[in-house]
Amino acid sequence: MQMFIPEIETKSFQEIKTFQESKIPDLLDYLSKYSKYYQRMFDEYQIDIKSIKTVEDLTQIPVTTKDDLQKNNSDFLCIDKHKVFDFVTTSGTLGEPVTFAMSDADVKRLAYNEFISFACATGDTQDIYQLMVTMDRRFMAGLAYYSGIRKLGAGIVRVGPGNPGLQFDTIERIQPTALITVPSFLLKLIEYAEKNNIDYRNTSIKKAVCIGESLRNSDFSLNTLGQRIKEKWDIELFSTYASTEMGTAFTECSAGQGGHHHPEMIIVEFLDENNQPVKEGEPGEVTITTLGVEAMPLLRFKTGDICYHYTEPCSCGRTTMRLGPVIGRQKQMIKYKGTTLYPPALYDILNDIEGVENYIVEVYTNNIGTDGILIYVGTNTADEVFRKKIKDYFRTKLRVAPDIQFEKPEIITQRQFPEKSRKPVTFIDKRA
Ligand SMILES: [Zn+2]
Repeated sequence: MQMFIPEIETKSFQEIKTFQESKIPDLLDYLSKYSKYYQRMFDEYQIDIKSIKTVEDLTQIPVTTKDDLQKNNSDFLCIDKHKVFDFVTTSGTLGEPVTFAMSDADVKRLAYNEFISFACATGDTQDIYQLMVTMDRRFMAGLAYYSGIRKLGAGIVRVGPGNPGLQFDTIERIQPTALITVPSFLLKLIEYAEKNNIDYRNTSIKKAVCIGESLRNSDFSLNTLGQRIKEKWDIELFSTYASTEMGTAFTECSAGQGGHHHPEMIIVEFLDENNQPVKEGEPGEVTITTLGVEAMPLLRFKTGDICYHYTEPCSCGRTTMRLGPVIGRQKQMIKYKGTTLYPPALYDILNDIEGVENYIVEVYTNNIGTDGILIYVGTNTADEVFRKKIKDYFRTKLRVAPDIQFEKPEIITQRQFPEKSRKPVTFIDKRA
């Protein structure tokens, strides 16, 4: 079956830009009528929305941050509450979750988004997807995948997260072709299969659509996590990048050269620390403007994620912009001995060192007022030879070596899971 590609995704850069810009007046008009938050912003900054016609013109409008969304949550809602079809939450900046609302049309938009995203990752009607993420717990992702696969016309089996035994039982019974999962869980599956003599390499599974964690380095080679999976289980891995706020996914095609932008869903800008656009080849913060969203449309929303972007056409036939892996969060940027670093680069190195059971990266302001890095390493081989090995490995990969403090792995595990935390803590920011 021919892979489905929306027509707009094969057009020239200029045609795509013109297409996106044709959507701007309606969007601004809609926000000025229905969004309390953007009404206030347009008033306060005296923005004449009629004068904003191009993507470049958007820079006249202030950005929207996660803090804005947190503090003015209900003012972003553009429809009556009784017209909201689905409520989800996303983690906010100040500890409390942010409520996100979708209308019936928004859920249909989301289904279309996942349909074209799965199609991009070689999905077709012959596929059966094993959904290994949750459908409930106020998350958007599971619902989005489910709706998209339905629209694609493929099959689905909803197993949910965890439970390797049930996952393999399902693979044997249903013979799915694809998994939708957090990639690090694939390592847990492999470990389980090896312990239980399951011939996981010869199942019906051909590919995995991976969410939440990067599989690649900035040059698109597989990172440590990607390599570890691939070495053991040679299935096709597709990286995706998405968030609740953008209601849109960037999904890789078989070329594995970054997630494809779907221009009918969002306008994307890449901004520096001062909210100025960066050039291609420079890392920038992904900043999005949603198109076609009814309940909570966002204008120039800063995601906090730093990525590279690429504009040469892809071998799959798409001409749309491609997004590289997230190299870090804007707020977590570390300036260490003259080098700019993001925690994922440190994690990737630590994950690659045998004997490092677990870890926590701590950054602080040192006595000369710059960033210091202390890594708590959980290990059973806490000696000076091992410390040197770790430091040398850091120097080879990053040209700098952080300070290392050894702990028992159980101590690190305890610290990684403080009370009430939904996710393990691997990064602690103590900077002034
Ligand atoms: Zn492609």
